[in-house]
Amino acid sequence: MHEALFYKPEAGKVRCSLCNHHCLIAPGVRGICGVRENVDGKLMTLVYGKLIAENVDPIEKKPLYHFLPGSLSYSIATVGCNFRCEFCQNWEISQRGKNGGEIVGRNVRPEEVVSAALEAGCSSISYTYTEPTIFFEYAYDVAKLAVNKKLKNVFVSNGYTTLEALDTIKPYLHANNVDLKSFSDSFYQKICGARLEPVLETLKWHAKNKIWLEVTTLLIPGKNDSKEELRQIAEFIRNELGDFIPWHISRFYPHYKMNGEPPTPHQSIINAYKLGKEVGLKYVYTGNIPHENAENTYCPKCSELLIERFGFNVVKNKIKDGRCPNCAETIEGVWA
Ligand code: SF4
Repeated sequence: MHEALFYKPEAGKVRCSLCNHHCLIAPGVRGICGVRENVDGKLMTLVYGKLIAENVDPIEKKPLYHFLPGSLSYSIATVGCNFRCEFCQNWEISQRGKNGGEIVGRNVRPEEVVSAALEAGCSSISYTYTEPTIFFEYAYDVAKLAVNKKLKNVFVSNGYTTLEALDTIKPYLHANNVDLKSFSDSFYQKICGARLEPVLETLKWHAKNKIWLEVTTLLIPGKNDSKEELRQIAEFIRNELGDFIPWHISRFYPHYKMNGEPPTPHQSIINAYKLGKEVGLKYVYTGNIPHENAENTYCPKCSELLIERFGFNVVKNKIKDGRCPNCAETIEGVWA
């Protein structure tokens, strides 16, 4: 156990301010994430250094398409999550720890993560699979050491971190793929156990603080795939974050409590892709489904094919010094 950051005593309990649930936690009880517990008046993180997953992934798998394309990212997770999404594909590890569940994982010191990333030839460390916010103290310690070794740090997040915690990790955080799961507060409440507004604030924080941001929406048939809602998402990205922010539209496959639902029809993904382009987003990508080269990057000015991808592999990358080699248009991203 390790003492947590971001908490204060309040009325004989402790108030956690790591994520936007702001749990008020009585002695002997855990917060909503199931991995932070009030132990005799101190908030303790139960997952510090306890890795449940460690993999070397292509950065494209996060997905990040405009951040060091073709590089490898050392990807880690602990158990726990502050959401309870009914469609979670990693629910066996994300929901563990809730209701007093056992905290499992391999003990790994921060310096061991950094050494393993360097040995594997990675350019970055990704905090992913579950929600990095809930293992913040560990991620923060790893991230500081990683920067000293010239590695970048990447979050793959549901966007529920408080701005206080984001300001703390900002000097060490280089990119974040944040889910915008819906534009409906009732979807967030009923299906994820959270609220929409804090996610929108977190997204805006990234744009304002110039942390490289890509946005992902998993399309679930009948839940968040109406034309109206997808337009709201695309317009929010364009107006509040920037038309250059990549939008990844991902296909749902039945998982967890939504095991009985059908997968997203191919046509819904294509419709969302077209809508994103219509709204004026420069970079829209489809995930988990092949569609007319929608996993490639094209120059938004002259349509030159810049990055050709096949699955998570980069086949060709023609971007030179952040520009299109044909028309010299700036292509937004982190390229080196
Ligand atoms: S990090 Fe966990 S304990 Fe803290 S506010 Fe979020 S859900 Fe509650």
